[in-house]
Formats: sequence, structure tokens, C-alpha cells
Amino acid sequence: MYVILPGRVAIIDDLGGLQERVLLEYGPRGFLGEYNLLTGQAAYVSAVAVGPARLIEIKPGGLRELMAQEEALSELILGALLRRIAVMIGLHTGLSIIGSGYSADARRLLEFTARNQIPHSWVDVEHDAAAEAMLRDLGVTPDQAPVVTWGPRVLNNPTNAQLARALGLAPSPGPAQVVDLLVAGAGPAGLAASVYGASEGLSTLTLESTAVGGQAGTSTRIENYLGFPAGLSGADLAARAALQAAKFGARITAPCQAAGLEPRAGMTVVHLADGTMVGARAVIIATGARYRRLALHGLASLEGTSVYYAATPEEASRHASDAVAVVGGGNSAGEAAIFLAAHTRRVYLLVRRGDLAATMSRYLIDQLARRPNVEVLAHTEVAALKGEGELHGLMVTDRRNGSRRDLDARALFVFIGADPHTEWLNGVLALDRAGFILTGHDVPATSGPGGGRLPLETSVPGVFAVGDVRSGSVKRVASAVGEGSMAVRFIHDDLAPRTEGVFPARPDGGLVAEGAGLQVSVPSADKPALAS
Ligand SMILES: Cc1cc2nc3c(=O)[nH]c(=O)nc-3n(C[C@H](O)[C@H](O)[C@H](O)COP(=O)(O)OP(=O)(O)OC[C@H]3O[C@@H](n4cnc5c(N)ncnc54)[C@H](O)[C@@H]3O)c2cc1C
Repeated sequence: MYVILPGRVAIIDDLGGLQERVLLEYGPRGFLGEYNLLTGQAAYVSAVAVGPARLIEIKPGGLRELMAQEEALSELILGALLRRIAVMIGLHTGLSIIGSGYSADARRLLEFTARNQIPHSWVDVEHDAAAEAMLRDLGVTPDQAPVVTWGPRVLNNPTNAQLARALGLAPSPGPAQVVDLLVAGAGPAGLAASVYGASEGLSTLTLESTAVGGQAGTSTRIENYLGFPAGLSGADLAARAALQAAKFGARITAPCQAAGLEPRAGMTVVHLADGTMVGARAVIIATGARYRRLALHGLASLEGTSVYYAATPEEASRHASDAVAVVGGGNSAGEAAIFLAAHTRRVYLLVRRGDLAATMSRYLIDQLARRPNVEVLAHTEVAALKGEGELHGLMVTDRRNGSRRDLDARALFVFIGADPHTEWLNGVLALDRAGFILTGHDVPATSGPGGGRLPLETSVPGVFAVGDVRSGSVKRVASAVGEGSMAVRFIHDDLAPRTEGVFPARPDGGLVAEGAGLQVSVPSADKPALAS
């Protein structure tokens, strides 16, 4: 962070790139810095002094220390950083993604940037006359698109992991690490565990395979989360929580997938999809669940262009003048239908049951009834999709009598439940029949070593499961957050006695782990590790 003493500094978007522009200027007592100061990502805009200027430079570690000591300053800085990232996203600063709206890779990059709160603009070669000239200037042919540019940098159809690495979101593969607490998954449950873990002084590493915020991050408005009477968007909740976790010193890496779990003497080793591994004194699994897909011919070719599993402003603006269909009778379907009704021409809500009251909250049913452009079709399921590459319409069936009807929907939003992300845990942890993780009293006495289980503790001692991935969970943001914080409490109480002697402290506060067959050491983080 830089504080301006005398002088003026211009904030410039896309410095040295095709779309360079000055956004604003700061004068004396202004401070320069983005959300990324604390999260470790690259900066998305540049600052250039306009004439002579004197600045105070504050490094990230110093900034954290300052914020821990100065409450009012901390509030001011965090508030400014959150507003700045929102403004940057709104102004479409940062990256430019140039490609065709019909390209699955372009849709993938747009979804990745949108869900990870990465400021970006979208240049569609199908609709933007300037796009071809931009590609020519970059020396890229249209068949090599999509391209991501950022100032003078050009990435040709990067994978999500390559883009994340370029932006400092994902860790470069390095030597194995040992942490006090490893959190797998950064939805509400994992983010809560990260905030509480780091704030309790545990060195905390959080792995996220897709996008920070999890399912909640795809929700356009969460109206029943305590303390937010006007509701808040899932993206906003995720950005706030990630910043809060970073403020306390947690490291969140995305995309980074946990691919295996192995208990070793005194700790748990988590294998990552890139082949590296992390040792942890305690593990919290918060990997949530994934949306179910409809078994329909041609579905895969439409996913990303007109079949979606989230309704965000991105999809809504794409279909603003269309009729769209939402499938599902639960709260997420109801929320999506209400949101889409405000941003698209017409919404069909397709429900298999006859009565929404059994599966959807009353307030959502009432809001749906007040929307003149929403038509609820009960006892209905999708029989066929029409169109290739783009949806041209749907054929639906009335389950009572088999009668069929054609709908002019140009997009299909699917919200029909979810399956747990536990395939990587098969054979290691006790799961229920549907694959959700058993915890506490539900863990069969015969499975795993050790005696009784703490609440939220799995069949492997020291490994906890929280949120939607846990068998019997409530499937709500608030309960996921509550469980994330509870698990940290149990870990904190339980950690020291269980692992005593295994992780000798180094003089500099880092950890050395040898007892479990890992010969690794890590430098101390900003905070001293618990073992020291
Ligand atoms: C559209 C929508 C709207 C909703 N609206 C509401 C609402 O208004 N109110 C409410 O209370 N609830 C709502 N919910 C439900 C709520 O979002 C979930 O209950 C909540 O997100 C569960 O949190 P979680 O952290 O347990 O799991 P998730 O949110 O599912 O997060 C799990 C995270 O783990 C990651 N992950 C998975 N596997 C791995 C792996 N192997 N390694 C690393 N990371 C991994 C996933 O990518 C994901 O980010 C909604 C859900 C949806 C889909």
C-alpha cells in the first residue's frame, strides 16, 4: 500500500495495453492499493505519479500488523478495498477476454473470472466490430481465440490454472508444506473455517478447486443470512469472507484441488491434483456438493452457452430479451427464477411436483406469485432440448397425462439438487450411502482408529467435515458458516495434546515435520505457528 504525501498519482487501467485509460487521480493523504494487497493476487490497475510525489510504502505484513492494532484504520482500509474491487469489476477494468460467445473456452474463462471476482471486460468477436482489429494487433488469428490480455501480457486460451498462476491466485508448485490447519473447499463453510482458524493463530492453508464462494458464490441474492436485512449477493459474501480470512493471515489458493487424504503418524497428508502434497495437523473438509445434471440428449453441447447451473448477471444480460426456463422446486430454483424475472423477458419455472410449498420457502413462493412474467408449470419435466450449440426451445411433458408442450426458452437454468464432492475420499473416510461424510455419533464404531468422535469429526481423528458435504447437514449458508467455526473450536482444543512432540518448533517460528515420513520444513508465516 502507498500513502501519498505531497503529489498526485493517476490510476491507469490496461497500462501499455490496447485499452489504456486513466480512471482517476489521488492527491495528498490518498492511499493506493487494491483488495489484492491482502489476498496476494496481482494488482489489476497501475499507478503512475503525475509529476514529483513522495509516498510511504507499507508492505503486506506491515499492513496486517497495522490493521490488527488500529481498529478504525482497519475498518476504513477494508471498506475501501471492498468498494474498490466492486468499482473495478463494475467498470470492467483489469483483464480483457477476447473471443466468441459460442466458444466453450471463452465461456469457461468468463465464468472463472466472474466467479473469482477478477475484474475483466469481454470483447465478443461475433458482435464487436473492433474485436478483429484487436486480435490482429495482438498477432492472434480468430481461431487462436479466446485470448486474455492484461496490459502488455497476452495469454492464448489459458487453462484456468495457468490464468490463476499468472494472477497470483494459485500457488506455484513448490516443496511440500506443513500447516496447522488445512481447509479443503472455500465455500461458506471453508471460508468460515479459514477465518476462525487464522484468527485463532493457526497457520491456515485453504484449497479451492474452482472458485472462492462455492455454491453460495453463485447465488444472486441470499436473503436469509443473519444481519443482512436487504440480502447480499453470494459474490459479495465470498469477497468479504476471503478478505477477512486474508486479513488474519490465512492463505487461500484457487484453483487447487485436494485429490487424496492419507493419515500418517500424528498428522494428515493431503495430496493435491498437481502431484504435490501438504501435511496438516488438522484437516477440515468443506468441499460441498455439485449440481445434478439432467439426462437429456445434446445437453453437453449446450452447457456454457445456454444451459447453466447458476443464474448470475452474466447469464441474465446474455438472455435479456429471451424467454428462459428454470428447472427445480427448491429455494435455489425459486431465487434464480425471481432474479431472472427481473432481467429477462419471461421465465418458465418447471417443477416435477404439484406443490411448491413442500420444497420452497414461503417468501420465495410469494415473490414468484407477484411476478407477472413468471409462469410456474407444475407436474412438468423437460422431455427434449432443441438446437445445437445454442438452445432454440424446449419440449416439456406433463407427468400426469404425458401431454407435451413447446416452450420458446432460449436458456435453461438447472437447479435439481447436488451430489457431494467426496470421490477423492472413498475408502479413507466413512461415508453414508449417498456419499456424504459421516461425523460425530454417526461414525460407525468399527470404522477408523481411535475412540469416540467429537461432533463434526470424521472416522479419521483430526479430520473434520463441515457444511453441505457432511451427512445430515442443513444445506444453508448460515449452518455451513456455523459448522466451519465450530470445527475450529474443537481443533483448537484438541490439537496440542494429539500432536505433541511431532512438530518441533524452529527458532524462527516455522515448523519441521519428520515424524510422519515427510522431510519438509516451512518458513514461518506472518503469524507464528501454533507449535512455536
Ligand atoms: C444458486 C444457489 C442459491 C442458494 N441460496 C441460498 C440462500 O439464499 N440461503 C441459504 O442459506 N443457502 C443458499 N444456498 C445453499 C448454500 O449456498 C449452501 O448450503 C452453501 O454454499 C454450502 O456451503 P459449503 O461451504 O458447505 O459448500 P459449497 O458452497 O458447495 O462449497 C464447497 C467448495 O469446495 C470446493 N471443492 C470441491 N471439491 C474440492 C476439492 N477436492 N478440493 C478443493 N476444493 C474443492 C468447491 O469448488 C466449492 O467451492 C444456495 C445454493 C445455490 C446453488
